[in-house]
Amino acid sequence: MSRTVRDQILSRLAGIRDPERGRDVVASGRISGLTVDEAGIARIMVETTPDRAAATEPLRREIEKAAAGVTGVTRAAAVLTAERAPGRGPGQAPRGGAGHSHGHSHAPAGSATAGSPTGPAAGQRPSAPVVPGVTAIIAVASGKGGVGKSTLAVNLALALQARGLKTGILDADVYGPSIPRMLGLQGRPDSPDGKRITPKIGWGLKAMSIGLMVEEDTPLIWRGPMIQGALDQFLRETDWAPLDVLVLDMPPGTGDVQLSIAQRVPLAGAVIVSTPQDIALLDARKGLAMFRKVEVPILGLVENMSWFTCPHCGGRSDIFGHGGARDEALKLGLPFLGAVPLDLDVRIMSDEGRPVVAVAPESEAAAPYHAIAAGVVESLGRVRREPPRIIIED
Ligand code: ADP
Repeated sequence: MSRTVRDQILSRLAGIRDPERGRDVVASGRISGLTVDEAGIARIMVETTPDRAAATEPLRREIEKAAAGVTGVTRAAAVLTAERAPGRGPGQAPRGGAGHSHGHSHAPAGSATAGSPTGPAAGQRPSAPVVPGVTAIIAVASGKGGVGKSTLAVNLALALQARGLKTGILDADVYGPSIPRMLGLQGRPDSPDGKRITPKIGWGLKAMSIGLMVEEDTPLIWRGPMIQGALDQFLRETDWAPLDVLVLDMPPGTGDVQLSIAQRVPLAGAVIVSTPQDIALLDARKGLAMFRKVEVPILGLVENMSWFTCPHCGGRSDIFGHGGARDEALKLGLPFLGAVPLDLDVRIMSDEGRPVVAVAPESEAAAPYHAIAAGVVESLGRVRREPPRIIIED
């Protein structure tokens, strides 16, 4: 890819003095991210702190201008990213709302503005960004990668849509954004007014992904606050409304990034997916603990790659020891939403951008996803009927 262009941008930026730090902006660590895509669009992350954002704005513009002047760059977008200033509580960080972009206008796509903090201490649900016109946001999470979380997220979203619900999907799996590939989506989303993002439509689902902003193989090191900033922005600045359900494909695992998302996104509930192996279940248990810590209701457990039906003889093999998630759900008093077999068609179709629930909704392979969607709707109804924990009075 445009490695040399990237190098040229860096050497151009090395000529810009950082007035606050007294060195050039590259040496001072001011540039926290830089990518150049095939179309020659350069995206630059410029580090600041929330209270210095306005003061850093001229520097941001200078950096953007310098990058735009490099041969091979068709457009440059520099955005400010910020971590919480030391000693500030989450409620005290100056912000016009989570993910607020500090008032400067730039291409919204790819502008991962982290004006918001990483999140408060565990146990607190801070004032989360509100997504107007979206009734329920549900997370699909897993204790580790490769268990089929994204495949489930896509097919679950499609199965919810098949039930007549207006559904969207937000790919928060920044480490391996696979939703565009699974829905067969390409190209950057439009932004008619340069501010709001029009989501892509894949098989009827409104979809948004960091993967639509950066090349799949672009090395981009996401730090927690940047991820949070980008997600806040995708939630708030994308035209999601009206939606009944927005499915959020979480990054795999249960680290700080995941915890921070679980804290800051106003989740109606979470679906946890695991393979039947005990080890995976141990990981899944960590996922449960994480959502409980931030008081997000668990809508249920899903067991993926539960068994394998031989396409030749029809024989069924419990290759991973089927049933672990069901037992676990029972033990924990959680709904078991269903088991999905290891199905070669599921794999081939989802990797080709033809998810099974969209392409063959009546097939045997799609059936488990419809059952899981029914369970999710039921669980959502139940958690909604529970008395609200917070009552806001005028
Ligand atoms: P994760 O999001 O947990 O990393 P993915 O959804 O990307 O996992 O799935 C990893 C791989 O496993 C993909 O190639 C996907 O097509 C495949 N896969 C997921 N679920 C199934 C299934 N039930 N049967 C066959 N292949 C599956």
